[in-house]
Amino acid sequence: MPPSKQTRYVDVSNPSLTVECPRCGLVTARFVDMCRNCAYKLWPSGVMASAAFKAWRAVDPEHRSEVSRFDLDYPVHIDNTVDYEARAHQLGIHMSPSSNWPFVICFGLLFLSLAAIPFSATARIVLAVIGLLIFLWGIVGWVVIEDTRMFPSDSTETEVHH
Ligand SMILES: [Zn+2]
Repeated sequence: MPPSKQTRYVDVSNPSLTVECPRCGLVTARFVDMCRNCAYKLWPSGVMASAAFKAWRAVDPEHRSEVSRFDLDYPVHIDNTVDYEARAHQLGIHMSPSSNWPFVICFGLLFLSLAAIPFSATARIVLAVIGLLIFLWGIVGWVVIEDTRMFPSDSTETEVHH
């Protein structure tokens, strides 16, 4: 029998990918010719099952095109992007706000590491002092100023020092 005749027996309006097996009653893939559980022949042949699946899929290609006839469910698209800041806030984790201060700290550390190079003693002291000042400026700016601004409720501890 030509497949075009067989597609008539498919209820294409039914979006289900599964069917209850008439013999064992368990849910099985609708467009596979045999029941997965008891091998009951749901379709006279695999070709017919495939033709029925293609006809069924053609009715609603937008939703059904990604489906395999061996699937029992539609593919689920999960949005894996996580807003870590929102998540941390939700979990009550104190995350330091993203800012430019870490770059200042790194800049200070760069000078400090330059001071480790055996230049003359004066040059090393100057580099160390500059590095330390930039480093501390970065720490103070990052931890005290920005953190206090972003998290006013946590600021009691830092305000004691003033
Ligand atoms: Zn069965």
